[in-house]
Amino acid sequence: MSRYLGPACRLCRREGVKLMLKGTRCESAKCPMERQWRQNPPGMHAWRRGRTSGYAVRLREKQKVKRYYGVLESQFMLYFRRAERSAANTGTALLSLLERRLDNVVCKLGFAPSRRAARAMVGHGHIYVNGRRLDRPGYLVRQGDRVSVKPSDRSRQTARIWVEAMSGRVAQPWLQFDAERLEATVASLPTRDDVQIPVEEQLIVEMCSR
Ligand code: SF4
Repeated sequence: MSRYLGPACRLCRREGVKLMLKGTRCESAKCPMERQWRQNPPGMHAWRRGRTSGYAVRLREKQKVKRYYGVLESQFMLYFRRAERSAANTGTALLSLLERRLDNVVCKLGFAPSRRAARAMVGHGHIYVNGRRLDRPGYLVRQGDRVSVKPSDRSRQTARIWVEAMSGRVAQPWLQFDAERLEATVASLPTRDDVQIPVEEQLIVEMCSR
């Protein structure tokens, strides 16, 4: 299982949006995207690049989503093929699938400050689904699933610290969260409105359908 290990803020600068990859730092004044002079794309001659082609616009939309959810190309294409086979609109189905990833759910619940941290938390066995340990960050939650923190003092203490620190995070209508028990139930599957990243999914469909 490979993953991107390079600088996270560089990805935000490339995409021109805050991808929220670094937890609390993303909401502080230290975020490079809050400083005008750091908002340029990375690279020495980035500002010199000429007119953007249609291909580049579509590519950027795809890369934005991949980087936001922390998935690489081959895995992303598996999600896309699955979305294509679904009866719903392909773009909406794709975003819904990505939103259902266990690491994303853990991050949205506030058990971890970022998707990267959530992925580590899942991988290290701190997260239970339906009362059983599940260490696959890419697991897609289903309606009715119960996501909770491992019933050990250490795991619960860490999760509680982050839940309190992340209390200002937007509540997810599709997740019924019980902060006292550090447990959430998937009330419904996420819709397009539950995806917070600004993206034009139709452009991704146009690019990947070729
Ligand atoms: Fe870095 Fe987070 Fe700001 Fe992105 S949003 S530039 S990851 S601090």
